[in-house]
Amino acid sequence: MTTIKERYESVQQRIADAAARVGRTDPVHLVAVTKYASVDEVRQLVDLGHLDFGESRLQHFTQLSAQIEEYVARKKELKEPTSSESIRWHFIGHLQRNKCRRVLPLSRLIHSVDSLRIAEEIQEIAQKKNLTIECLLQANISGERQKTGIAPPAVSYLLEQIESMPNVVPRGMMCMAPFSENPEDSRSVFSRCYELFEEMQGEEVSGEAFNILSMGMSNDFEVAIECGANVVRVGSALFDQENTTTQSEPLTETTS
Ligand SMILES: *Cc1c(COP(=O)(O)O)cnc(C)c1O
Repeated sequence: MTTIKERYESVQQRIADAAARVGRTDPVHLVAVTKYASVDEVRQLVDLGHLDFGESRLQHFTQLSAQIEEYVARKKELKEPTSSESIRWHFIGHLQRNKCRRVLPLSRLIHSVDSLRIAEEIQEIAQKKNLTIECLLQANISGERQKTGIAPPAVSYLLEQIESMPNVVPRGMMCMAPFSENPEDSRSVFSRCYELFEEMQGEEVSGEAFNILSMGMSNDFEVAIECGANVVRVGSALFDQENTTTQSEPLTETTS
């Protein structure tokens, strides 16, 4: 049995080690993905001072963020030590137009803008609610049909369109690699996404704040960091008891 604290420290250490391996000194941010987490586990991370949380399902996102905000407010009332910074909620799931209205007011960063239609919907709602919405463009680098995301050649065009949307701020890009047991299988996807990200940074339409690259999950975040990710989205390595090994160990010990 490991505790949340141990798993959190282990993931942070692995992040630092991966960055060090490639000589990076810029910060790499961990978004704790709450998909498999209980409210109590999320509270424990908050107590450890963690601020970035991500969720992909709207229902869970609204409930959990309300519960955690209440928890933080109560801690403040009781004058228990809390961070002076507020929690940053990341929406990382597939965004449909009918979900935008509820996702927007809660999100510090939306990782999953994958079409002009969604960007337009965000602009329309954000304008009405007088919000500025920071978002990442999700690219489908691998070209898998079942993956959502913008085809790489279309990213530049979408950025151009977003330039005319005053309430939408493009902050960077997000991608997911096809699922594989072997983290090395993600490397080519992550490298290509990094190249595209850099290319977009060089274009005028991306704007000055375009500096976030969100890629890497529990099974491949170290490879993602080696490829240039500065945000990783990690769920099961933090919250799933079954998935706590740092190096994959053989499932069965050979007994003789
Ligand atoms: C669930 C999810 C994650 C985290 O996945 P783990 O493998 O549990 O770390 C990251 N990003 C997205 C978009 C997800 O849906």
